[in-house]
Amino acid sequence: MNYDIPKEVKRIGKRLNEAGYDAHLVGGCVRDLLLGREPKDWDITTNAKPEEVQKLFSSFAGATEDKPATVYENDFGTVGIKTESEDPRLKVVEVTTYRIEGKYTDKRHPDEIKFAKTVEEDLARRDFTINALALDVVGKKSEIIDSFEGQDDLKDKIIRTVGNSEERFSEDALRLMRAVRFAVELDFQIEPSTRKAIEKLSGELEMIAKERIRDEFIKILNCPRAAQGIILLEELNLLRNVIPELREGINVGQNKHHIYTVFEHNVRALDYTAKQNYSTEVRLASLLHDVGKPKSKRGEGPDSTFYQHEYIGAKLATISLDRLHFPKEFSEKVAHLVRYHMFYYNTDEVSAAGVRRFLARVGPESVDELLQVREADRIGSGVPKAFPYKLRHLLFMIDKVKRDPISPKMLAVRGDDVMKILEVPPGPRVGWVLSVLLEEVLDEPKGNDKEKLEERVKELGSMSDNDLKKLAEKAKNRKDEFEDGVEEEIKEKHHVK
Ligand code: ATP
Ligand code: MG
Repeated sequence: MNYDIPKEVKRIGKRLNEAGYDAHLVGGCVRDLLLGREPKDWDITTNAKPEEVQKLFSSFAGATEDKPATVYENDFGTVGIKTESEDPRLKVVEVTTYRIEGKYTDKRHPDEIKFAKTVEEDLARRDFTINALALDVVGKKSEIIDSFEGQDDLKDKIIRTVGNSEERFSEDALRLMRAVRFAVELDFQIEPSTRKAIEKLSGELEMIAKERIRDEFIKILNCPRAAQGIILLEELNLLRNVIPELREGINVGQNKHHIYTVFEHNVRALDYTAKQNYSTEVRLASLLHDVGKPKSKRGEGPDSTFYQHEYIGAKLATISLDRLHFPKEFSEKVAHLVRYHMFYYNTDEVSAAGVRRFLARVGPESVDELLQVREADRIGSGVPKAFPYKLRHLLFMIDKVKRDPISPKMLAVRGDDVMKILEVPPGPRVGWVLSVLLEEVLDEPKGNDKEKLEERVKELGSMSDNDLKKLAEKAKNRKDEFEDGVEEEIKEKHHVK
């Protein structure tokens, strides 16, 4: 059989062969070739030692002595070889020396790396049978090397460990997450004894570096079947070591506006965003949007309430994503979307000033994503109420006010102007003045006129620190129509008015 192997990869294989070494494609790329999927990267395994690989490729693809084509070598015997390709999947091809792994005493890193002589030995250290397939790069021998019946498992859509499941998971507990990831990504079933071993050893995930868990978790989230991934993580007892906060919603019933428990609803919201192929941030924000409900629940049954769950939810989102070492900017974005997912909008009640204020709070750059989360919430409830008309109206209003000033940067006077007019150094007074100006301009955008604002700065400048600070805080904490509405709407729904 002929496989579609890029010429850059073949060139590397040929060079290894010409120097008398083997070169096999291995791992994900062979699996994906056999499945007819596009490989994400190309990994080669060889009996050449890392130093030999480096030497062999020091003059590859236009490399010179000070700029060698081999990019690095790590402790695991992997050498990255730069190619001329612009394709990100092909820019660097990894060449790894055959190895067998030594003992794992810490359940996450082998104590020592031992090089192996044959490709078969190398395949035996791999995680799952479908990942333990190799193929000669240049195609001298075109048959697949398959020591563990990986091709049968590919055909039957089965995830099964290479060798004894419990031993393999104890060696490296990240494999617990990887089993779920591949099952979800490929829509495969985990073979029963492999599954049993995962349940049994699920607690060992605790030993694994958070970054590694996070990276597998992101891959699960980014699958179209992400929601099934969350359910599988829970079934296999792994979710407690990924996002335990989500588990608080299991079996927590909602009120008469919902047919699902909090947990089910969160998962269904994620499902919608995954099917829509939304960003990872939107997927996570949808999964976490009601994570604050269990803690804010008051009462039982059809009239229970969840006041302020969006604040608690934003906090829990931050805690859980920080714990998994997501970049700060990423977790802030997700928490922000959770915090604002409850905005209220009624066509005839909200003014243009209200919409400007909504934009100012939420940030114009987050509006699209926030609406996606809101849509996921609506669809994920299982009983979607009519919202599209209101949504269209909100978009129309946003469009109408989008050139109006909504941030301090858009004011006709800036911090420097304030300092000059009031002859004050940088300090809190400048910020207070700007906050008051912005709130006034949000109400009346025509007021964003340099002369008018300069006059107003002078007035504000004559106020005492205390009074000015109070005014600025009042402006900042002003209850917005959107947020007011949330409370009002909820109270009405629950007949507490
Ligand atoms: P992807 O398509 O997402 O890249 P992949 O199967 O290539 O999937 P990688 O993480 O790139 O996954 O790993 C490449 C190969 O290395 C795997 O196919 C597997 O053979 C082996 N491997 C990776 N991680 C482990 C692990 N933790 N334990 C054992 N083998 C592993
Ligand atoms: Mg890969």
